[in-house]
Amino acid sequence: MSVGTQLDQVVGELRQAQRFLLTTHENPDGDALGSLLAMHWMLEQLGKDSVMYMSPDEFPLSHEYQHLTFEGLLGAPPEDVDDRTVVFLDCGNIDRMPVAFLQREGVHILNIDHHHDNTLFGTVDLVVPEASCTAEIVFDLATGLEAQITPRIADALYLGLVTDTGRFMYENTTPAAHRMAADLIEAGVDTHAVYRRLFEDLPFRRLTLLTRALQGVARYDEGSITMATLTRADYEQTGALEADSEGVVDHLRAVEGTKVAVLARELLADERRGRRKVSLRATDGAVDVSLIARKLGGGGHRQAAGFTTELGSDELVSSLRVEVAAQLPAA
Ligand code: AMP
Ligand code: MN
Ligand code: MN
Repeated sequence: MSVGTQLDQVVGELRQAQRFLLTTHENPDGDALGSLLAMHWMLEQLGKDSVMYMSPDEFPLSHEYQHLTFEGLLGAPPEDVDDRTVVFLDCGNIDRMPVAFLQREGVHILNIDHHHDNTLFGTVDLVVPEASCTAEIVFDLATGLEAQITPRIADALYLGLVTDTGRFMYENTTPAAHRMAADLIEAGVDTHAVYRRLFEDLPFRRLTLLTRALQGVARYDEGSITMATLTRADYEQTGALEADSEGVVDHLRAVEGTKVAVLARELLADERRGRRKVSLRATDGAVDVSLIARKLGGGGHRQAAGFTTELGSDELVSSLRVEVAAQLPAA
């Protein structure tokens, strides 16, 4: 089925149903949160009963998202969950929302996403890999639904756009992404205020955590891999939160010669000590990091992917070196 047909189908379902439950992926980023809020407010505007679900474990959110308010957010399934159309936003794989009530048979799911490796777990899948962010798809749905882009909807969509495109610098920054930005600015987005909120005005502990990460940077294979590690001790000694690690990996990708930047950080909530979240970023497109992430139990985009692992440090490094080397032409 073509994307156009799926878009029409999703528009039809959104128009027809009355009750919705919206959700996204765990450890939500700007696109996850922005798409979720924008869709929620659009549905409310159309007179629908919409609730959002995120696990209480996600809070507090990373500093840059703390200004967001989630009226209508649930931390547990509502009683009438079976009567609700479930809308997944920005979630490439249903296991990225690991809650039983959403993974049961028979849940009616609209899967709206832009990951090329989306596992198509929805009843209807609107997966558009060409879209820079899920917010771009939601923006297209707004046109189909004839929803008005109010200032707060514009802000939410812009949040997804500016974060997923790396402030309009990553490869996914298309003319459509810039046109959408122009439309959102006309609808009221204050771009400088967004910039200040997202990228400045950071808690000092974040700089201390970054310092620790950068002190331990290791490079492998002529610098093709640039990798930093954060441990439980790094968080404890700096007073930083897990969410404060957001953005660290971008410093690594900027280093000359790097093909793949890696941040491996210990997961604090995990009872099994030592489980780590690994973030991968590609630089010039020589390596598709989503292939590596998928092989090691996760997924993502060609340029930005991740996985969670129980591998020890040495095993992790050697696996990454093997996988990166396999994709690079022999020297
Ligand atoms: P992150 O490194 O957490 O910023 O994630 C970068 C991208 O990788 C995200 O946009 C997701 O698409 C993907 N990703 C991260 N962690 C996972 C995971 N455990 N499973 C599947 N995809 C992931
Ligand atoms: Mn996301
Ligand atoms: Mn996204």
